[in-house]
Amino acid sequence: MSLRKAGKPSPTRLQPPRERPLIERRVVPAPGAHRPRPPAIVALEVSKTYELGAIRVRALRDVSLQIERGDFVAIMGSSGSGKSTLMNILGCLDVPTSGRYLIDGVDVRELDEDDLSDLRNRKIGFVFQSFNLVARMTALANVELPLAYAGVERHTRRERARQALASVGMARRLQHQPNELSGGQQQRVAIARALVTNPTLILADEPTGNLDSRSTGEVLRIFAGLNEEGRTVVLITHEPDVAEQAKRVVQLSDGQVVDDHRTTALASSPPQLRAQKSARHAYGEASA
Ligand code: ADP
Ligand code: MG
Repeated sequence: MSLRKAGKPSPTRLQPPRERPLIERRVVPAPGAHRPRPPAIVALEVSKTYELGAIRVRALRDVSLQIERGDFVAIMGSSGSGKSTLMNILGCLDVPTSGRYLIDGVDVRELDEDDLSDLRNRKIGFVFQSFNLVARMTALANVELPLAYAGVERHTRRERARQALASVGMARRLQHQPNELSGGQQQRVAIARALVTNPTLILADEPTGNLDSRSTGEVLRIFAGLNEEGRTVVLITHEPDVAEQAKRVVQLSDGQVVDDHRTTALASSPPQLRAQKSARHAYGEASA
């Protein structure tokens, strides 16, 4: 719509028209008004340097990264490229040497150790390559642990742990100890433990690194399902076929982001589920 009044001659243009307004309009929300939710993760020029005596290792160098809620991001890179260092910072297990890190819009520098551990317990589920289950404790007891730390009452704790284990297909292995389970089953217990607190962010560091291809497929299906439920998933891997299951792939090399590309729209289902859906669709059409 033109703001110029009809009939008024147009002024002679001395300059080409501006493509953008001279002054950007910024919507300033009124106090108390609903504001859009901030990204799940914002890292701004994050660096991490380890000091080993006289040797300084620059594990991360000015990494800036924004991850939206509901995204499924693979972080790739060869061994030593800084992936675990980045995950430790994203998970508030470690702090940057310089730069800023905001989780859900909160700058972690403003939080003390208690706030940080509270935030980790409430918002983040961790999954590691080596499962990190407690030996000589049953699957059920392992999954109950985070709830026990959070002070959840025993009966509720047990029930939620049961549900989490059922959701990863482990309902019939509640009383097994880690050494009585396969690698893939142990990882599913570890995922149940990560889920039982209902976190919005799942951080997984090479979760399929110790698994065979079948268990890798199962674990990736579980992550895809968690993302489909609206959780943000950050998956660290050095395997390209694992990274293909994410919606976006960030490549680290020598502590820097060297590539960042999206393969699947943020609002879409993760690739594996999309493939399943379209296969079902095709089958439905063929058999109709
Ligand atoms: P990745 O997970 O990609 O293999 P890391 O983040 O573990 O990489 O390591 C990045 C670099 O930082 C490597 O050179 C590694 O040796 C070094 N590094 C990692 N953790 C420490 C530490 N706690 N102390 C000293 N150096 C470390
Ligand atoms: Mg690592």
